[in-house]
Amino acid sequence: MAQLPPDVEEDECLPEYRYLFSPDLLQDKVAFITGGGSGIGFRIAEIFMRHGCHTVIASRSLLRVSMAAKKLIAATGRQCLPLSMDVRAPPAIMAAVDQALKEFGKIDILINGAAGNFLCPASALSFNAFRTVVDIDTIGTFNVSRVLYEKFFRVGVLSARISPLPAAHLPPHPPVLQDHGGVIVNITATLNLRGQVLQVHAGSAKAAVDAMTRHLAVEWGPQNIRINSLAPGPISGTEGLRRLGGSLARVSTKALVSPLQRLGNKTEIAHSVLYLASPLASFVTGTMLVVDGGAWLTSPNDTKQLADFESSSAKL
Ligand code: NAP
Repeated sequence: MAQLPPDVEEDECLPEYRYLFSPDLLQDKVAFITGGGSGIGFRIAEIFMRHGCHTVIASRSLLRVSMAAKKLIAATGRQCLPLSMDVRAPPAIMAAVDQALKEFGKIDILINGAAGNFLCPASALSFNAFRTVVDIDTIGTFNVSRVLYEKFFRVGVLSARISPLPAAHLPPHPPVLQDHGGVIVNITATLNLRGQVLQVHAGSAKAAVDAMTRHLAVEWGPQNIRINSLAPGPISGTEGLRRLGGSLARVSTKALVSPLQRLGNKTEIAHSVLYLASPLASFVTGTMLVVDGGAWLTSPNDTKQLADFESSSAKL
């Protein structure tokens, strides 16, 4: 049985790390990671940096990303630029991407990890609450992807035409415009694969992101841009699990009925994102990689959670 990569519960770097991939897999690449100051996004930033990448971590709280950047730089020795940005505000995204390009001169990889979620029955969900989740998860993912596309991924560089013949045998050619290209990984979820109580807002928002992944992969593929979704299952040591998992007993019971009979950890998610973002996945685009230990195949829809939620809300 494969050895489980270690993790720590909090937003701290790993005390030690054993390489499974080549340590220079992302050498001198630059990754822009939304939601990179906490949870899964923080661990993605750390694992990327341990593989030679510089990062930009962006979210609303400058304090959160600044503290995270200090820890990441100390643990990995790579550069990390913390930026405050709301994925719902295109002008703020443009300013952040400009700042990142000024600092690093390029961005190779975009990880769309920013999201908001909470448990709520559809019948109690306000119109505004549904819209807010779609605004952050779906529209936010589009906003950041679109800005990076405009500002860097599709912007061409001039390069000499490559030919096996010596230059003397060739008619004069103008230089060719090559797209920078890039890689996007959208962090989604398994909620919408079958439907789940209390999650119509997040399930709908993430399903739209998975559709966006396929559309953009088709439209932007000819410009050498690869786009994939990664759908994590329940992951320990995250805000997501703390907010959505319910009691420890409920989380353990759910985890035990899944094929691998345990929760996943942040390092496991980061390793799968690393694969998708790296040249190892050079022919992979427009797909969704489910990283949940097979949980969505066997987890029953927890309708008792709906009943419990409604009875506890009634007492408020
Ligand atoms: P998390 O720590 O709460 O991460 C969410 C991040 O998004 C935070 O750093 C937050 O920072 C940022 N964010 C929220 N709204 C934003 C906005 N409007 N603009 C910019 N940044 C914003 O949660 P997590 O559990 O690690 O989840 C990370 C990703 O994995 C999410 O996409 C989530 O849906 C997905 N996922 C998680 C699980 C799980 O078990 N944890 C399962 C399936 C999918 P600020 O508050 O500073 O803005």
